Amino acid sequence: MIDWTDPLAGASRRLARAVPFRPFRLVLEQPVISFSFDDFPLSAASNAAPLLEANDARGTFYFADALAGNFENGQLIAGQDVAANLAANRHEIGGHTSNHLNVQRVAPDHLVADVAANTSAIAALSGQAPTSFAYPFGVVSLHAKRLLAPKFAGLRGIQPGINRGWIDLAHLHAQELYDVSSSLDSIGKLLDQLQRHGGWLIFYTHDVQPDPSSIGCSPTRLGAVLDMVRRRDLAIKTVAQTLHQIGARPAS
Ligand SMILES: [Zn+2]
Repeated sequence: MIDWTDPLAGASRRLARAVPFRPFRLVLEQPVISFSFDDFPLSAASNAAPLLEANDARGTFYFADALAGNFENGQLIAGQDVAANLAANRHEIGGHTSNHLNVQRVAPDHLVADVAANTSAIAALSGQAPTSFAYPFGVVSLHAKRLLAPKFAGLRGIQPGINRGWIDLAHLHAQELYDVSSSLDSIGKLLDQLQRHGGWLIFYTHDVQPDPSSIGCSPTRLGAVLDMVRRRDLAIKTVAQTLHQIGARPAS
């Protein structure tokens, strides 16, 4: 049996980041910001969704069906019913594999089957297959990009930066929104850049609660970022809305 945890994994990851599988010239009349929540903990649904809604905005929640109702990284993950409610309220439920797989460590047929199961689960609870996908742990590989890129309109990693000019729809950049590692000052500068030069800025985080984990964000921080976005009159859209707007479609 092939060991998918091979020593070339690091090289594959670097190559996978460097090789654009779905190069796309991003043209947006106005800058766009998306807020995304990976896994996603119940607290993200309970605390972030209402804050976004209060700003007449919606979020993108990356769902891993096998985690639903269980604990991941010490956080209670939202159940299918919570995801269904978010979808009914026009939030986006994106794909994140069913078992939160490290795409570098699984055989191609296993990865494809797992993603198909997650897509079916999301379709069952939301009425539609997911438009976008986030690579679990932000890990990409050449075989994962090749296998998954045709199945979604866009796929997001955790490579920081604003999406602008030529982008790779199979590896959209995203900026972490964690209380411990992203200051309001640095976020303000990023928003200024976005306003000045245009593009698409995607934030990602996990839990959203008053005392967040090291990969989470407090409601106070999220509220402050939303205030900064509103003051700059920047548009907030889900990842799916933005992909739709730019005409990105899955190939299969
Ligand atoms: Zn995740």
